[in-house]
Amino acid sequence: MTNQKNLEVWFVTGSQHLYGEETLKQVAQHSQVIADVLNKSPQMPVSIVFKPTVKTTEEIYNICADANTSKNCIGIIAWMHTFSPAKMWIGGLKILHKPLLHLHTQFNRDIPWSEIDMDFMNLNQSAHGDREFGFMVSRMRKNRKVVVGHWQDDETINAVSNWTRVAAGWHDWQGAKFVRFGDNMRYVAVTDGDKVEAEYKFGYSVNTYGIGDLVKVINETSDAAIDSLVKEYDAQYKLTDALKKGNEKHASLREAAKIEIGIKAFLEDGNFKGFTDTFEDLHGMVQLPGIAAQRLMAAGYGFAGEGDWKTSALVRAMKTMAIGLHGGNSFMEDYTYHFDPKNQLVLGSHMLEICESIADGKPSCEIHPLGIGGKADPVRLVFNVSAGPALNASLIDLGNRFRLLVNEVEAVAPIENLPKLPVARVLWKPYPDMKRGCQAWILAGGAHHTCYSQNISAEQLQDFAEMAGIEFVLIGKNTDIYQFKNELRWNDVYYGR
Ligand code: MN
Repeated sequence: MTNQKNLEVWFVTGSQHLYGEETLKQVAQHSQVIADVLNKSPQMPVSIVFKPTVKTTEEIYNICADANTSKNCIGIIAWMHTFSPAKMWIGGLKILHKPLLHLHTQFNRDIPWSEIDMDFMNLNQSAHGDREFGFMVSRMRKNRKVVVGHWQDDETINAVSNWTRVAAGWHDWQGAKFVRFGDNMRYVAVTDGDKVEAEYKFGYSVNTYGIGDLVKVINETSDAAIDSLVKEYDAQYKLTDALKKGNEKHASLREAAKIEIGIKAFLEDGNFKGFTDTFEDLHGMVQLPGIAAQRLMAAGYGFAGEGDWKTSALVRAMKTMAIGLHGGNSFMEDYTYHFDPKNQLVLGSHMLEICESIADGKPSCEIHPLGIGGKADPVRLVFNVSAGPALNASLIDLGNRFRLLVNEVEAVAPIENLPKLPVARVLWKPYPDMKRGCQAWILAGGAHHTCYSQNISAEQLQDFAEMAGIEFVLIGKNTDIYQFKNELRWNDVYYGR
């Protein structure tokens, strides 16, 4: 995944002609300074582009129309340095469908106590100018982010930067293509859903290809390409002895490399941003993709097992939001529990497919039997995950709406070795605690599949849900089951059961 400086967030300042040319000149200068500072701040992942001040209904409409059709514009930051009568904004806001951040800031940090006069008051009006704008956005029931603070304050810059990451994830979904190799795992409910509604709401499409189409591409892989990828495996991971050149399982390592190269070629050829597979439909494949899915996730592709296209797309979006950040994002599953009353934990893992972006240290590359699927033993990367704050996010289809459910967790270092569990794994404590965290998750209908994130916050995912116009539910430090149940009931009323 690449540099995102080609993506633009437009910095749009609203005003009006009431104040005269001199004031408007200063408005434009100040806006340019703020846009430049935001743009050049090291934590800003995208470009912040200054736009000329909008002062009329027509100028506002035009900038919104331009933003909608601009390929690289992923959102708008709006700021009312002076007063911008908000009826002028109705037409523009009505058509704007790119994400909107309202930056409630002021050019001067401090009140110039001894010098403040009416000229200053005429210019520095955002305290009330932004309220007029805020009223109209609320009056129109439009979702937007509101960030408050001085534009030179790191906290403000970080808040803007975090939101631009979310907007980049949203932008990435628009027109994105995800491929399913085979259908969902038979009879499974939560991983399925309405792909038509998903395309309408989220902007991405999900289509199925027969596993034979993929096998054909895998079988076209050259020996030279396999040689080179096997060398890469050897350099990047601790290869278990059996997989090394000349040893009994080396052919399996070459087979795994062939599968990875084939899937990658298929994804690149079809311009897909992620995929799913299922162990129930692997005709013509020698192994279930293990290391292939792991490494393709690490390269930025979305992935989830058993045909779970919603989680695959979510993994991709969260990886896009996190480009350049420390830590990672991975497909995850709540696997098994440790109910020791003194130390209650969830062990998260999957059959094979956990992304190495969350690995603590160098993964080992191993081969073991799988127990399901009836294929040859698959090669996989095995590793632990470091301690620290994280979250699990689950996107479910409730029939009449999508719900994005997030549980904040605290990952803990492994308390014991797991010598007979040959998969990547992570241990965590859900917030507010094990019992209430799991109780709330079950009540909300959260899936067993999630995207596990070390670097995206619940607030960012709430912003993401608001961009999509879907329900967001958080299980965190302050979750109280009584209130949580009410929240779910009230949300049913809001969205209609
Ligand atoms: Mn699963």
